[in-house]
Amino acid sequence: MDHDVDMDRAVYLDHNATTTVRPAAAEAVAAALSLTGNASSVHGFGRAVRRAVEDAREAVAALVGAAPADVVFTSGGTEANNLALRGAGRERIVVSAVEHESVLMAGAGAALIPVDSEGVVDLDALDSMLAGEGTPALVSVMLANNETGVVQPVAGIVEVARRFGALVHCDAVQAAGKIPVDMGALGVDMVSLSAHKIGGPAGIGALVVADSVPLSPIVFGGGQERGRRMGTENFSGIAGFGAAAREAGKGVDGFAGLGRLRDALERRILAVSPETRIFGAGAGRLPNTSCLTMPGMASETQVMALDLAGVAVSAGSACSSGKVQASHVLAAMNADAAQAASAIRASLGWNSTAQDVDAFVDAWTALHVRAEAGQGVAAPAA
Ligand code: PLP
Repeated sequence: MDHDVDMDRAVYLDHNATTTVRPAAAEAVAAALSLTGNASSVHGFGRAVRRAVEDAREAVAALVGAAPADVVFTSGGTEANNLALRGAGRERIVVSAVEHESVLMAGAGAALIPVDSEGVVDLDALDSMLAGEGTPALVSVMLANNETGVVQPVAGIVEVARRFGALVHCDAVQAAGKIPVDMGALGVDMVSLSAHKIGGPAGIGALVVADSVPLSPIVFGGGQERGRRMGTENFSGIAGFGAAAREAGKGVDGFAGLGRLRDALERRILAVSPETRIFGAGAGRLPNTSCLTMPGMASETQVMALDLAGVAVSAGSACSSGKVQASHVLAAMNADAAQAASAIRASLGWNSTAQDVDAFVDAWTALHVRAEAGQGVAAPAA
């Protein structure tokens, strides 16, 4: 998609896809890049890099209430999820039906825990799924969904899982920095994180693993990360991740305030279009995410038209290759197919403003008026 959009004036409401890099994270990356050295080298150059890595490890651990030694740096959330599902050594894997593709694909063949129409995992179903099998399983359920923002009852999932000796992994990639994440309070064994969702650079993340979990590596090499993820550390990315984690940790309270902007956005859309459906609105959600329908207009068409109007949103998470597919998340919620096909996601970030929401509501309303008038939407220039 290559339209003539004035990027300086465009409004970005796609922060669940990736968020703006925080200035402190950009500075930390630049400072790390000015260092020469390999974190594994024993000389002074290497030790300086090691200090930057360990400093970041502390910050990332603090974001989720874990010990620094539990943090295993990876190339991002996708690899963290793969490491959790493939490295924990459990043959039987049970995941929710609304997980990110990286969990669904790493756990190919896993049993799927159903969700209700609000997108919340069915604890009774999990109970019977675990009761029916002899071998202890690995259960993987995300803390917050990337498409709808729906927050899962992870502590309740842990309670059920423990009765059957199951390990629990939680993909907290979308939740971190947006709501408090405390590994101890949740009781989970492993947590996945991704820097670019909290204001750090893309291509760096972590699996935070409790000491008690015997994790085997899925990438082999020089023994880095205490043999849990080998390969020379991406130390500039790690430094940026650490700085972003510090800022995101301080910003969690401010993030709750974004809920007022998101709620105002939804109220205004419903006033214009009472037939709009907001997915997951009846459940606890992240304060920044809204997944909403424009009846009669395809998601892709909306995304392109809004882009032309200078507002960037997403048609769902499955557009990584530029091709929008039906959302497995909305399908699992038993959404009406026509509604699912007209859903878009607006997601606010740490730097979003009331003016951004105004711009979205104005552009959405104008599009809705055109749709109602049956004028359709001109295809953008290729
Ligand atoms: N898990 C969730 C819930 C996500 O939303 C994403 C990214 O969209 C990932 C995992 C993958 O993270 P990364 O982009 O760092 O590989």
